[in-house]
Amino acid sequence: VLRLEGIKRAYGDLIILEEATLSIAAGEIVGLLGPSGSGKSSLLHIAGLLEAPTAGTVLIEGGEVSRLSSRERTAVRREKIGFVYQFHHLLPEFTARQNVAFPLRIAGVSPKAAEARATDLLSQMGLDHRLDHQPAQLSGGEKQRAAIARALANQPRLLLADEPTGNLDVDTSGRVFAALLTLVRQEGLAAMIATHDRSLAAQMDRVIHIDDHRLVETTVPDGAALI
Ligand code: ATP
Ligand code: MG
Repeated sequence: VLRLEGIKRAYGDLIILEEATLSIAAGEIVGLLGPSGSGKSSLLHIAGLLEAPTAGTVLIEGGEVSRLSSRERTAVRREKIGFVYQFHHLLPEFTARQNVAFPLRIAGVSPKAAEARATDLLSQMGLDHRLDHQPAQLSGGEKQRAAIARALANQPRLLLADEPTGNLDVDTSGRVFAALLTLVRQEGLAAMIATHDRSLAAQMDRVIHIDDHRLVETTVPDGAALI
């Protein structure tokens, strides 16, 4: 679903990422670890077509994205990629259900079908009792659950998440993360999830560390995900 080839990211003389090459297949969940400032968000933004790399190639479902116009890139992003941030970015005047339905309405889905899909996704994220609450009426964990449901609304092929539970306490983070993984596995998505939390990383299929501007891959040993 996603392939990055020889990605370099630099700000002037400051090199952030070098020779970053990686592939993620459908159904694979990849953890992205690295100290603060190592370039996790930069890599996710490049993979999510939010930023262009300084050099290198991004392929989404086999198609090279760097050759597309910015309008075409936006279309690929809307159709194929879901993004979850550390902070929810929900629209404050909309209810949870309206927030999740919003990207579907933009894509031209009828109000009724969009509401039905939003209700279904929010229920799967454990928010069936919070459908008509606005973000200010939701807890931190509930807001992140709604943000995850919204990222999946358009049935993307690739989910990118930047410390999606990073602002939650450990227990809430574990529960929201479990709901996220269940839904991602059920939908058979490719996913790349940046985290500082090694216990969360251990639940993923593969883990990539950013070490000295380069990607270093460590395979999760059999059974490790069960601990
Ligand atoms: P964190 O764990 O704190 O979120 P991160 O691994 O996500 O960190 P990035 O946000 O990708 O790190 O940043 C990587 C590096 O790029 C940092 O050193 C940052 O200061 C630098 N950087 C990011 N944006 C810019 C910019 N616009 N100009 C110059 N340097 C930048
Ligand atoms: Mg970051």
